[in-house]
Amino acid sequence: MKTVLCIGGSDPSGGAGIQIDIPTVYAHGLVPLTAITALTSQNSEGVYDFLIPEPQNVRFQLEVLDKDYNIDAVKIGMLGNADNVKLVTTFIRDSGIKHVIIDPVFKSTTGFNLLDDEGILLLKEELLQSATVVTPNLNEAQYLTQTEIKNVEDMKNASKLIIDFKIDSVVIKGGHLPGDKSTDVVYDGIDFSLIEGKRINSDLRGTGCMYASSLACNLANGINLYESAKNAKGFVEKMIKNGHQVGNGSRQVTSFKE
Ligand code: PLP
Repeated sequence: MKTVLCIGGSDPSGGAGIQIDIPTVYAHGLVPLTAITALTSQNSEGVYDFLIPEPQNVRFQLEVLDKDYNIDAVKIGMLGNADNVKLVTTFIRDSGIKHVIIDPVFKSTTGFNLLDDEGILLLKEELLQSATVVTPNLNEAQYLTQTEIKNVEDMKNASKLIIDFKIDSVVIKGGHLPGDKSTDVVYDGIDFSLIEGKRINSDLRGTGCMYASSLACNLANGINLYESAKNAKGFVEKMIKNGHQVGNGSRQVTSFKE
């Protein structure tokens, strides 16, 4: 059995974070392992607060898993603060895990900060260097590169800037592009590949988490980056169709059957 370690925050409403990473990994036939970096208080209407466990606790969660399991891929989502960024960076450097997928989570859709300022700086300057692939959406790519991204050409330029952080490869997701297409840009430092999709307007939570977890599963299965990115986009498109309004706010996935 292959394993994917998901490092990230708990979303008690089940729409995002670890609670959506787990069923995503099972849906791909792999075994999810998890390390919880933050306990958020949130519902379908927004994030209200979060608590970060002591660093030694987060570190211990990672260490005991690494001791016991062969970890095929790691997916990193919400980290919350600089302490978590530091210890996750050390863990990744020491662990030698082959596939390291980083979803650079800075803010919730409703605008709540999910990583403090020092954490953002450390993520950019240290953690990203350990990534095999980083998966920003348009907002996160703009934030990382301090450029304005309005079209695919801008996405390509931003990909080059992101690769300059010494990352192997980057996928910028075009879900928030204007127009009726949502094109993802895959860049491995040499070639660009575009993955076209139709714009699906949905206020579904957790699409970024599902995408990165699906990508991690595909890469863990030995599939190349382009095919993995295509499969992950396809998976999220299917899950969007499984979204329903359960709480009073945004929709969430209610079934992981493809
Ligand atoms: N909560 C957790 C634990 C997350 O990991 C994320 C995103 O990665 C969010 C909230 C934000 O989700 P959304 O972008 O759907 O608001």
